[in-house]
Amino acid sequence: MQRRQFLRQAGATLAVASTAGLAACAKQAVVPTPAAGGRACAAAGFLADGVELAPIKAKVDRITGVYVCTRPFRAAGPRIELERLGHKAIVHNYGHGGSGWSLSWGSSTLAVRMAQSTGVRELGVIGCGALGLTSALVAQRAGMSVRIYAKALPPDVYSMRASGLWTPDSRICDAQHAAAFAERWEEMTRISHAKYQSLLGVPGKPIEWIEGYALSDTPAGQSHTDVADEPEYGDFHERVRDLTPRSVDLPPGNHPFAQPYVRRYTTMMFNISTYARLLMADFLAAGGKIEVREFHQPHELLALPETTLINATGYGARALFNDDTVIPVRGQTARLIPQPEVTYGLSTRNLSMVPRSDGLMVQSFGETGNFNNSDVTPNRAASEAAVKQLADLVASMRRG
Ligand SMILES: Cc1cc2nc3c(=O)[nH]c(=O)nc-3n(C[C@H](O)[C@H](O)[C@H](O)COP(=O)(O)OP(=O)(O)OC[C@H]3O[C@@H](n4cnc5c(N)ncnc54)[C@H](O)[C@@H]3O)c2cc1C
Repeated sequence: MQRRQFLRQAGATLAVASTAGLAACAKQAVVPTPAAGGRACAAAGFLADGVELAPIKAKVDRITGVYVCTRPFRAAGPRIELERLGHKAIVHNYGHGGSGWSLSWGSSTLAVRMAQSTGVRELGVIGCGALGLTSALVAQRAGMSVRIYAKALPPDVYSMRASGLWTPDSRICDAQHAAAFAERWEEMTRISHAKYQSLLGVPGKPIEWIEGYALSDTPAGQSHTDVADEPEYGDFHERVRDLTPRSVDLPPGNHPFAQPYVRRYTTMMFNISTYARLLMADFLAAGGKIEVREFHQPHELLALPETTLINATGYGARALFNDDTVIPVRGQTARLIPQPEVTYGLSTRNLSMVPRSDGLMVQSFGETGNFNNSDVTPNRAASEAAVKQLADLVASMRRG
């Protein structure tokens, strides 16, 4: 209710601020004219450059699923290191917080380099999520023969429940450990980014660049996105500013949104269903083998035929290797029936919509109670509230 009041208020403020300019707007988007006070005006539902933003059908009866998983967060950043276990070399590659897809190729490249240092040609990879699959593929490219062992395969792994955005520094370490981790993070980020460019233009669009709109009632930089019961996280985006196009602030009259501050961003999106299938298909086509198997204790790994293993068990590493440094950070998304005509993302301080080909992913954030919370029971009511909030945003957009 409070939110609705806010939206109405924001809409009214915008209307008052821009009445003169908007009166001059035609149905079609136009370029700046003297009559419009020199300002570009967008037709309802359009941006000033004539791009139409297709209406989002944000309705709770269009929810196709509510998904919960835990981000495997480590304060010091992911564990990528070689450990000896009896006669085996175990290369750990886990603990990627909210950045597992984004950093996967870079992290797995570092892990495979360590595995190669043992001189073996046969590699076992434990885990078949984002990190296991990319470890296996990087190793195959390096000439190794690879077998994946995992208790679950896509689509039944946590990685499949991610939002699907390029977020390489999302909950990847805490602020205290940021300086020590920064260089390694940058290397992983740059390797991953380069790999993703080679996956563009592939049938089914596993990876796409999209535009999105960040809506706010306060100027950029004044919103508070920290979550009260979570640590301050490492923030590295300045180190890789050259990798993504700059965001652009859109003045009122240049967009159909009710919010006074609108920033257009450009980012990579992972269509995770298509993308995971592509990774699996590439792995199998290159002769990769998969064995469905669960391990309960590290010593069970000693019986495997491969002498070098990459451990990409994600949150599972906490139990398997008794590693309490892996903290679960719960996250929930709702998926709406796909709308191929919706090609843009939306975000506010506490809501995000990602326009994936397998459905519109709606996620609310900013709430407390997720840190160190391993409960993966879906909370349908929370997702319905997020979809209703999205519906309010959509309803407040000017349309012809
Ligand atoms: C709501 C939400 C949104 C997110 N959005 C994004 C995003 O937009 N972009 C991004 O980059 N990241 C995002 N993430 C983070 C990302 O999902 C994780 O970092 C990533 O999935 C971790 O991948 P993983 O391969 O390490 O783990 P998993 O996907 O959990 O895979 C682990 C594998 O190991 C296996 N395994 C585990 N334990 C055992 C065992 N004992 N024996 C045998 N096999 C075992 C599992 O079966 C599975 O195959 C998001 C996370 C959440 C929660």
